[in-house]
Amino acid sequence: MSDIGANLERVRERIARAAERSGRRGDDVLLIGVSKTVEVERIQHAVAAGVPALGENRVQEAKEKVAALGRPVPWHLIGHLQTNKVREALELFDLVHSLDRLDLATELDRRARQRGRPVAVLVQVNVGGESNKGGFAPDAVPSALDAIAKLDHIDVRGLMTIPPIAERAEDARGWFRALAQLGKRVGLAELSMGMSADFEVAIEEGATMVRVGTAIFGPRPAKATP
Ligand SMILES: *Cc1c(COP(=O)(O)O)cnc(C)c1O
Repeated sequence: MSDIGANLERVRERIARAAERSGRRGDDVLLIGVSKTVEVERIQHAVAAGVPALGENRVQEAKEKVAALGRPVPWHLIGHLQTNKVREALELFDLVHSLDRLDLATELDRRARQRGRPVAVLVQVNVGGESNKGGFAPDAVPSALDAIAKLDHIDVRGLMTIPPIAERAEDARGWFRALAQLGKRVGLAELSMGMSADFEVAIEEGATMVRVGTAIFGPRPAKATP
């Protein structure tokens, strides 16, 4: 398990160096440890080693982990959210990265109002226009934001993207830059972009949150990730 502490330390150093290259400090970038498929004991080690936030992509799996671990750090939802899981998701997560369609916004708003507390979200953008990925087309983001702004229990903090799979991290730079430019255009500060293979490039392009799984926890079982 000591691998997790060492991995985390290495990731933190790489974040700090990439942040410096973009004129920021490592602390300006939130590291989200992506713990999907990782067993509770190993997540506990990451928490003890100081991981500042955890990310899960399934409500059911997160529910079991939150029951076992509590909330020593914020939990973030980084995967697709079904409308019928919204109520549970609001109880589990501090930030939803995956607002990818307007009917989900409507339901998040309705349930958040019932709870009496706004929900913090990022709007997911399909930068590569891939048919197998969720998210708004970049051109559709301004009008989507106008529609979401009418919902008073949704607090949009920024944008999130999962760019097309690339062979080299450098190949993702253009997608990250496109998200950063869109964020600037619509006046949103937070940018969730970058994973184990490319988080340094994402930070150089302005990421304020990176979602890092395997670089902290090691490889996942091949089938378990959607
Ligand atoms: C699994 C996942 C990650 C983490 O991926 P790694 O390559 O293991 O760092 C980040 N973002 C999302 C949306 C994911 O589903």
